Amino acid sequence: MQLIDSLGRHINYLRLSVTDRCNIRCFYCMPKEGIVKTGHDAVLSYEELHLIAETAVGLGIEKIRITGGEPLVRAGLIGFLERLAAIGGLRHLALTTNGLLLEQMSEDLFRAGVQRLNVSLDSLDSKTFAEITRGGDIQRVLSGLEAAERAGFPPPKINVVVMRGVNDSEILDFAEMTRERGNSVRFIEYMPVVKEPGWQRFCISGKEILQRIAERYPLEQVDKGAYAGPSRDFRIPGASGSIGIITAVSGHFCSECNRIRVTATGQAKGCLFSDERTDLVPFLRPADPQRLREVLKGIVAGKPERHGMSCDGYAHSNFAMSQVGG
Ligand code: SAM
Ligand code: SF4
Repeated sequence: MQLIDSLGRHINYLRLSVTDRCNIRCFYCMPKEGIVKTGHDAVLSYEELHLIAETAVGLGIEKIRITGGEPLVRAGLIGFLERLAAIGGLRHLALTTNGLLLEQMSEDLFRAGVQRLNVSLDSLDSKTFAEITRGGDIQRVLSGLEAAERAGFPPPKINVVVMRGVNDSEILDFAEMTRERGNSVRFIEYMPVVKEPGWQRFCISGKEILQRIAERYPLEQVDKGAYAGPSRDFRIPGASGSIGIITAVSGHFCSECNRIRVTATGQAKGCLFSDERTDLVPFLRPADPQRLREVLKGIVAGKPERHGMSCDGYAHSNFAMSQVGG
């Protein structure tokens, strides 16, 4: 079965958040004071999350990415992942993490059946990293990356949110990582989700990021895999990792969008930047798989054509990315 939306886009990818809690506070993701903690009852149980995943796969979802908040802080995650990996028809199970707990958890994650890790790392400089994350220890992330490879994972993909005046001086260092260490690196345009005064100063377009890399390295275009996100991918000849540019803000990739999202409290979203969301809880408590199936189909059918965000302004309400899952 294939899930096709009203604009003919093939939807095969679900981003499933397991928590909105996090062990750091990246300044671009959540306010300094953190977010109001969601009560335990409001967060979906693993049984409920599993039912959503199973129903989505039954409809045609082939790839699930576990996200958060920080997914590795939720107790019992490994058992949940084992059960997800066993869902017939699910072809790809991936997880996005800040990497702080990877040193202790990599082996269990690999054994549970996670195929691919994305690690968010916005600076290779310990001081800048601590500033962006409001106190995070980069050494733990670097040890985590090594532990992931020792456990059997391919070199994790590195997600870098590029912000002018914060970490844009490191673009070439990250590009070099694709040669030196074999990690693929995806440069993500900063998205204004937390309404901070003067947020426009951080904006730097994917075009400029690519230009800066191309001034230093020759680049060849890379074919994207079947479940690839909406990045444009390049490679420095001879490098084993690729360079991806995600122009979420400047270069709407909405026409290629292949995903839906479900938050840890069961709010399903057809578009990250739309205020529209559908509460799945009435179809989970008590569980009603048939209606849940119909509702998920409706979310795909109603996916908006495009979002209205740009570095000049945006229409969506403020939210913390940790509450949706990126
Ligand atoms: N805690 C995990 C992590 O940081 O990888 C998973 C959740 S995090 C919300 C998912 C992704 O969203 C991360 O790669 C993060 O860098 C990205 N993100 C968060 N806020 C963002 C923003 N304002 N602009 C662009 N990307 C953002
Ligand atoms: Fe936490 Fe990830 Fe948000 Fe950073 S980006 S605060 S690690 S949820």
